[in-house]
Amino acid sequence: MREPILLTPGPLTTTLKTKTAMLRDWGSWDSDFNALTAGVCQRLVRLIDGEGQFVCVPLQGSGTFAVEAAVGSLLPRDGKLLVLANGAYGQRMARLTAQMGRAHAVIDFGETAPVDPRRVAEALAADPAITHVGVIHCETSTGILNPLAEVAAVVAAAGRRLVIDAMSSFGALPILAGELAFDAVIASSNKCLEGVPGMGFVLVRETALAAAEGNSPSLSLDLLDQWRYLQRTGQWRYTPPTHVVAALAAALRQYDEQGGRPARLARYQANCAALLGGLERLGLKPFLAPELQAPVIVTVHAPAGTAWDFQRFYAAVKARGVVLYPGKLTSVETFRVGCIGAIGAAEMGQAIDAIAHALNELGLQP
Ligand SMILES: *Cc1c(COP(=O)(O)O)cnc(C)c1O
Repeated sequence: MREPILLTPGPLTTTLKTKTAMLRDWGSWDSDFNALTAGVCQRLVRLIDGEGQFVCVPLQGSGTFAVEAAVGSLLPRDGKLLVLANGAYGQRMARLTAQMGRAHAVIDFGETAPVDPRRVAEALAADPAITHVGVIHCETSTGILNPLAEVAAVVAAAGRRLVIDAMSSFGALPILAGELAFDAVIASSNKCLEGVPGMGFVLVRETALAAAEGNSPSLSLDLLDQWRYLQRTGQWRYTPPTHVVAALAAALRQYDEQGGRPARLARYQANCAALLGGLERLGLKPFLAPELQAPVIVTVHAPAGTAWDFQRFYAAVKARGVVLYPGKLTSVETFRVGCIGAIGAAEMGQAIDAIAHALNELGLQP
């Protein structure tokens, strides 16, 4: 039986090459494995044109572990983080900051509007205690794209430091050290880089990391400690996710062979356009206005006036080889369809087909 297509980014669909890269066991002390880690980290720093200014600190765990590590390590104990929230991942950043006992404030833009840089400027002017700003580049709970360049400009003009959760955009949408002012970009192995889940990483300005001594409330999530150990020994501090690193190294090689970031973005844009076109033909409505939609994940309104049941719809679509994602909105019934992963026109076509059949079978035509 063929594996289902995962439109649940992420985990997402990976290539056979990436999967087979995991068929070898690596010793965590071994120089071959250390070289693999070093190569991955160098490639990731080059992705933001950060050489000489930024370092890559890899971290075991899912993406949230890396967000928590970045906030805990970079925010001084007497610092204050302003979180720009328009969905679940912004709320999560605020929650993990509160849980570690750090001062923070949230501007909540709702679930349908992008972050408004003017309101950020006003908030920064009104509260001199704010030292750092946290923003979600693509808010994956809806698929909304936030205006990163404008936010970065406002934060820099106010003399504050920016931390970017770019989990679901990194590797596809541009984030360049020469064009934006930021201290850290956080992402993970299993989204636009098309690796498997198990590690996050923080691309952090070396001067900001060097100033992070004594900040982290956590041992295992202390980025500075992780970095120093890596510097000194070439090894991960504590057991590395060896197979995940090997898969990410293979995924990054394919990324370069396929044409790098511009090619990745172009494929995802084509996937997203195919998906939106197909949904429209079926009478389904996207949740976001087209100008707010990142080519990462599409939130779709449940068909109006039907006996909508996501579990049944999910099962009917899965029976045709496609795995969808539930909605993550509090106010309206939605479901989500990812357009990232090792997928292209054929898989998007299969997804539309599976959705069409499921709507038919369940009598859910809008
Ligand atoms: C995926 C994602 C995360 C991390 O989620 P994990 O489930 O911990 O990997 C954080 N922020 C955004 C915007 C994401 O898309």
